[in-house]
Amino acid sequence: MPVYVLPELDYDYSALAPHISATIMELHHSKHHAAYVAGANTTLDKLAEARDAGDFANVNRLEKDLAFHLGGHTNHSIFWKNLAPQAGGRPEGELAAAIDEYFGNFDKFQAHFTATAMGIQGSGWAFLAYDVVGKRLIIEQLFDQQSNIAAASIPLLTLDMWEHAFYLDYKNVKADYVTAFWNIVNWADVSARFDAARTHGSASLLF
Ligand code: MN
Repeated sequence: MPVYVLPELDYDYSALAPHISATIMELHHSKHHAAYVAGANTTLDKLAEARDAGDFANVNRLEKDLAFHLGGHTNHSIFWKNLAPQAGGRPEGELAAAIDEYFGNFDKFQAHFTATAMGIQGSGWAFLAYDVVGKRLIIEQLFDQQSNIAAASIPLLTLDMWEHAFYLDYKNVKADYVTAFWNIVNWADVSARFDAARTHGSASLLF
């Protein structure tokens, strides 16, 4: 039995159109995400083989591979849950209050998050995260699937800025993809992650 398994989506591949097309969703989930799942499982197997053989010559590459593929699996699993058809709008309740407290107001938060996404050099992600140490919301800019983030931060809202996430629909116009993203944010899911992160800390990724 593989350790990591590709999760089913809560909606059809076509459900997020016109913001994200069915073509992108099918490729992104069934090919790209699936490849991260396979890569993470394969890397665990290779690390087990290395331990059995007492041969750690490739340990640096394997640890990098594990971070990359497991990061990819984790990020995409959360990303799918962060999206929903007929969603968007603004958060409510304690999440809305926390966004006001730590970013000034929703518009400032949205501008900060959007700039973080748009500014990525190469492939990466923008995250709204709960920082367990400071007990506050922060925005993070990931490089690739795993770099440039603090180990004790918990992703709440994630935006995939790899070209595979938008290029078929938006070509080089990343700004239109980010604008479309705000129309399909599942704030109920983000709020549930925020509640769990504050209550249970880093154990609560809520897949
Ligand atoms: Mn992706």
